[in-house]
Amino acid sequence: MSFRKSILGLATSLAIVASAAVDDGCDALATSYPDITFFPGTERYKYENEYSWTSTTYLGPSCIFAPQSAEDVQFALHTFQKHEVKFAIRCGGAMPIDNAANIGSEGIMMAMTNMSSMAISDDSKTVTIGAGVTWPALYAYLDQFGVTANGIRSGNGGVVGAILGGGPFGFMAYEFGMSNAAKSLECVLADGRLVTASADDHPDLFWALVGGGNNYCVVTKAVLNTVPISSALIGTVSWGTGVSDQYIKSVEQFALHGAEYPKASFEGQTRWVPSRSSEISFDGYLWYSGEGDVPHGLENFTAPVLPITRGNLTRTTMGNWTNEFNYAPPLGTRAIFHWLTSAASAEAARIAFDTYYESIASLADVEGFSTAFSMLPITPIVTAAPAGNAMALGSDDSPAIWYVESPLWSNPEDDERVLGVHAEANAKIRERLSAAGLGPLPFMYLSDIQKTQIPETFAAYGARNLRKLKAVRNKYDPDRVFTELVPGGAKVAYA
Ligand SMILES: Cc1cc2nc3c(=O)[nH]c(=O)nc-3n(C[C@H](O)[C@H](O)[C@H](O)COP(=O)(O)OP(=O)(O)OC[C@H]3O[C@@H](n4cnc5c(N)ncnc54)[C@H](O)[C@@H]3O)c2cc1C
Repeated sequence: MSFRKSILGLATSLAIVASAAVDDGCDALATSYPDITFFPGTERYKYENEYSWTSTTYLGPSCIFAPQSAEDVQFALHTFQKHEVKFAIRCGGAMPIDNAANIGSEGIMMAMTNMSSMAISDDSKTVTIGAGVTWPALYAYLDQFGVTANGIRSGNGGVVGAILGGGPFGFMAYEFGMSNAAKSLECVLADGRLVTASADDHPDLFWALVGGGNNYCVVTKAVLNTVPISSALIGTVSWGTGVSDQYIKSVEQFALHGAEYPKASFEGQTRWVPSRSSEISFDGYLWYSGEGDVPHGLENFTAPVLPITRGNLTRTTMGNWTNEFNYAPPLGTRAIFHWLTSAASAEAARIAFDTYYESIASLADVEGFSTAFSMLPITPIVTAAPAGNAMALGSDDSPAIWYVESPLWSNPEDDERVLGVHAEANAKIRERLSAAGLGPLPFMYLSDIQKTQIPETFAAYGARNLRKLKAVRNKYDPDRVFTELVPGGAKVAYA
């Protein structure tokens, strides 16, 4: 037999073994849990496979298991290991990396949808949620008690996914800091143990989970601290077109001085929808949780400095505001996020903004193409909490500006072109920021990276933290189940 034939033969046998393993895994789940194991061809399978925000993640697992309790998760983890089946774990499905939370026919997806319980404590200071809860549902629930959570802004993202990604990062991070929403996390380890991770209980695991992704366990429950904010002035607004100079200046000023007004915050989203207009629009969200109708601290985003041309600030609850959006993913949309940071400087933001839009101008004719280039001014309060976090986020990382690119397009045939142009654009942005001595800064936010940024993400947490992340992984998952059997997501073992 030729070498080529023997390699092909080996590949085929391995594929057959893998397919037998996944079939056995699905059969075992279906036998014990027929009501929560779903196969292709059923409505529920389609719903779960296509639950996520972007169609690049609709990978078509052999079957989908939707546990209802920690015991169900324990059974599934045992089954996956017994049959050596690869699997994926999905919460809100908002991470636009194809295999971060789904898997192809070689594996099984565990969808946390059924774990949707929410229970506030008697004193309303904490809320306990199941691992399938999403932010819009949580905010709406908390509204009833006159409190909210330090979570994400808009988006139908999962609570647990955002915590594991190092967040959440939203409006209230400007008052309370980023990544301190979780008080404790309950999870099932690869060996089947159900443990609680918190500052007091398995603190090393708790430390690693916030920002450490899906490397350690399956989270089944989270206890979050609530914040005593019952309503706020919130605005989904636009400043129109042609205002880049003042918009960028206002972003810089907020990063430099926003900490003086912790109840105010801003997320800037510059948008280009070439099918509608050749102009870039300057949009964003404004937030003010202080008393009264005057949003102190947002003077640089309102008239006369930067007059709003569409939308306004209205007093509402987080639940009402965030549930006004239609979160159904645009049919068939392909999407990525790309993460970038710079110093808190208008010059840096100008370099990043100009270079991005200049470099991607050629994508105007790509079907369904649109993009947002978000600018997030970062004050020292955002990066102050929690101290000593796994991401090494701290006082050296602020003031700063963070940016998220989020292009959308329609057809897989355009993937190579869109991704190639973005790769060149980002190389250029980094080169120019670096030449100007204005960035990029070290912090990487696992929640908002592009797949190609995985190799640099954990490395950016610093050698000491990476060693600790690996040691914690070794301690809680010595057989590398969440490394080898869960192929999607950033892996600390390979960083
Ligand atoms: C429209 C939109 C708006 C967004 N806005 C914000 C924002 O304002 N602020 C912010 O911080 N982020 C924001 N994000 C980013 C989002 O919060 C992160 O991508 C987050 O990781 C998504 O969590 P998820 O549960 O929805 O993701 P999923 O895609 O379900 O999961 C993400 C990762 O977590 C792992 N995981 C999920 N559940 C578990 C579990 N129970 N146990 C173990 N591993 C698990 C998955 O395997 C996967 O690797 C936004 C995203 C979108 C699409």
